[in-house]
Amino acid sequence: MSTIVVEGVEVDTRHWINGERVASATTFTDVSPIDETPLGEIAAGGPAEVDAAVRAARAAFPAWAALPVAERSAVLRRVADGIDARAEDLARVETRDNGSLLRSHRRGVMPRVGMNFRYFADWAESLRHDDREIRGHRERITYDPAGVVAVITPWNAPLMLATWRIGPALAAGDTVVVKPPEWAPLTASLLADIAHEAGLPPGVLNVVQGTGAEAGAALTRHPDINRLSFTGSVPTAGVIAAAAAPNIVPLSFELGGKSPLLVFADGDLDLAVGLAVEQFDNAGQVCLGAFRLLVQEGIAEEFLARVIDRASALVQGDPRDEATDVSALVSRAHFERVRGFVDRAVAAGAKPLLGGGPNAALGGLYFAPTILAGAEPGSEILTEEVFGPVLTFQTFATEAEGIAMANSTRFGLAATLVTGDPGRAERVSARLNAGTVWVNCFFVRDLGAPFGGNGRSGIGREGGDYSFDFYCDIKNSVFSPGGWTVSHGEAELGAVSYREAERRAVSHGEAEQRTTETDGTDA
Ligand code: NAD
Repeated sequence: MSTIVVEGVEVDTRHWINGERVASATTFTDVSPIDETPLGEIAAGGPAEVDAAVRAARAAFPAWAALPVAERSAVLRRVADGIDARAEDLARVETRDNGSLLRSHRRGVMPRVGMNFRYFADWAESLRHDDREIRGHRERITYDPAGVVAVITPWNAPLMLATWRIGPALAAGDTVVVKPPEWAPLTASLLADIAHEAGLPPGVLNVVQGTGAEAGAALTRHPDINRLSFTGSVPTAGVIAAAAAPNIVPLSFELGGKSPLLVFADGDLDLAVGLAVEQFDNAGQVCLGAFRLLVQEGIAEEFLARVIDRASALVQGDPRDEATDVSALVSRAHFERVRGFVDRAVAAGAKPLLGGGPNAALGGLYFAPTILAGAEPGSEILTEEVFGPVLTFQTFATEAEGIAMANSTRFGLAATLVTGDPGRAERVSARLNAGTVWVNCFFVRDLGAPFGGNGRSGIGREGGDYSFDFYCDIKNSVFSPGGWTVSHGEAELGAVSYREAERRAVSHGEAEQRTTETDGTDA
């Protein structure tokens, strides 16, 4: 069977390589977290499929890169239109596949998926190609397409996170091989259909399905990729970095977090309570989630009582139901991982103020929203990423203590701060170790802004120009004033050797200046 029907939508379960569907001899089973039912068998790629996809991407690269940027962007806008037109299909399939809320997909996620193409298509058209004069020389800085980009993505927001990388890479003129997550592989297949219908040439976007150990590993060690963009966990990032190292492939890593919600007594308590409860979205399977509640003494009791009250009223259940607030965890393995973190924390002395284990009424993969207090400073539950609906609660006395606690992990993805004092907002945000700091808000970000993490949370930044810095080879061409031949009264760039150019420069009386510019510091 090469297609399955999920929520009424036909999905091809094969790879998409060089504009064609390709099967594999082996498959893996895709299971829905909602009720743990199998959705179908998905092609499990390995080195052969990855190699075919990289070759296809390589072959498609010159023509795609040479296309005028306006034409490339026009194709990408048609892809965005196709995504918008099929947003409901994509939302339903994604919900069934990874268990995240249908209402979130409808309202926020799928519109953002289309935007990942449209925004970067626009940005590519306005990309700077600087020309500047410098001491008589002309310097031209160009952003050249880098080549074949490997994209590896996680399951918690698979299509949104894949397109956040694919959009700018294609807009930059690169070609792409994407390896979707084995826990939620389906929407990537629909994206291939949409891109094809929008007129994306064969080989420009390739999808190789499969596990991380087989397809993922083969892609990361492939010698003919030029960029590797990975979103996922820290342990996997370490394995990928080692695999890519011999080929000196530039990496962009968006990894995990253990971010704080730092609430000061002078802040808006209603806002702080609302932000704390929001952390149960997507059952806590959000990299940016502010899972450590750090609350200033004085308001801590009231804050906690109100958070528990609000969180107790959250509706847990089937994510297809619009009334559901908290859904299931993605897989049995992940469920056991989350349960292990909570059990170990409780055994070590932490107290569950809410939840603390599976939702007994629902069974399956539904883990109850949980708040733990009293964990030992430095303990696992306060320092390691759980990636589930588990918040910890701690108090602090002074601003300095709050900052120290906020910065007390090896992660540095995001930090959220609630305060009513503008001076404190400035002081504290400046000292928080995080790629993104939100002050009295959460999850707001323009796609032009830099996004990424410090420490264990990643390598590099993407968004706006930062994406193009990664997906392009940036070149500085310096044109000597002596490096021109003159024919028929017009200047044209000639094949002039460095020595010849220097000789002409000397004859133009610029010897002294050139000596200072070419004293070997750039060699
Ligand atoms: P994961 O690291 O287990 O898997 C991510 C991807 O890597 C999957 O496609 C997987 O198949 C692949 N993979 C696994 N082993 C591989 C290998 N040896 N070689 C190549 N590829 C391999 O992560 P996950 O459990 O899917 O996702 C959750 C993690 O992702 C969390 O840590 C979360 O914080 C992080 N995340 C980060 C961001 C961000 O933007 N910073 C966003 C979402 C999720």
